[in-house]
Amino acid sequence: MLMHASVPLGYYAAALRVLRKHKASGGRVSEEVISGVTIVVPTYNERNNIIDKLNNVADETKGMGESEVIVIDGGSDDGTADVAESWRPPPWVRLRVLREGLRRGKHVAENEGLSKATEDYVVFTDADSLWAPGSLRAALRALSRSDVGLVTCVKRPLNIMEVESGYRDLYNMLRLAESAMHSTPIAHGELIAIRRDLAIKLGGLRPGADDSELAHRVAMSGLRAVAVDGVICAEKVPRGQGYVEWRGRRAQHLVAYFASALRDLPRAPRGYRRVLAVEAYLHLVNPWLALAALALLLAAASMGQLLAIAVLALVALTVLAIPHARSWALMQTFLIVGALRNIRGRSEVWRKVEK
Ligand code: GDP
Ligand code: MN
Repeated sequence: MLMHASVPLGYYAAALRVLRKHKASGGRVSEEVISGVTIVVPTYNERNNIIDKLNNVADETKGMGESEVIVIDGGSDDGTADVAESWRPPPWVRLRVLREGLRRGKHVAENEGLSKATEDYVVFTDADSLWAPGSLRAALRALSRSDVGLVTCVKRPLNIMEVESGYRDLYNMLRLAESAMHSTPIAHGELIAIRRDLAIKLGGLRPGADDSELAHRVAMSGLRAVAVDGVICAEKVPRGQGYVEWRGRRAQHLVAYFASALRDLPRAPRGYRRVLAVEAYLHLVNPWLALAALALLLAAASMGQLLAIAVLALVALTVLAIPHARSWALMQTFLIVGALRNIRGRSEVWRKVEK
């Protein structure tokens, strides 16, 4: 248990130090605002989300010159493409609705969108997500730095979307710290901003944890893939049974992704190498340490060992009492189940869960 906790806690402490230093140095960002952006929205059965999404994109692109929005629909049977076409864009948005005719996977749709994009900068974004005010500008501003190749967002729950600085939760804080060190290997489909020519040069998106995987390849190319405080997005989260399935599939993708990204470790740029090593460890190895410790403790407790019973009680109390510990424990469980499910093969086209 101690070993399971020590690496993440040590990493967390290091991350806090990095962020404090980064903040003190003012976090150098250029003021140049980019125009000329294509926003690619892949959709599969997003009838209930697509109008909110397009309105949000319209708000975010206002005052940036003309922007292109490509909705690329993978054969939705709920009329998503028709609903998207019925939307009246504001004068500064050029809307294109492309129909793939059948569902081929999100990454295929995104690559199709990429090949049709005409502006210099491309932003990929899931239809079931929204951006907080000013996020797109902040993302493009960060992308204007010559050392940055990809920008992603930090995540907020839908009900607290206001822009405010704050490393509100553990995961966002880690992403920001990794970005300050060099790059984060975890990027979010709610907002992935990249130069079009770079995305094409890298060969576009690949199946699975496609967003993170693209960030990884950007980092491997020597450019930085960063999450930016002030680029804030939210996504709709499924409830009940759908939630478990959704988290499970994502964990499965993450496990497969880190297992394969690990092969690049020896060639990873300095700065990024440590981040990749720790994150791969946290996703692939660390959950199993907790499981092993738990099994040992249970065995000892069942034989009447008082110390084991006390430690188990302490762990149970921690998990019950501290929300962060609870979400940590849940994540470990999903990662273990995800690893086991990867042995049976993984899904590139997943069941759509209701949100
Ligand atoms: P999650 O965010 O990982 O839960 O995945 P989602 O199911 O929300 O999918 C992310 C985005 O990709 C959403 O906008 C989906 O509508 C879209 N999407 C998912 N699968 C496909 C597909 O096969 N084809 C197309 N065109 N879009 C897809
Ligand atoms: Mn989603």
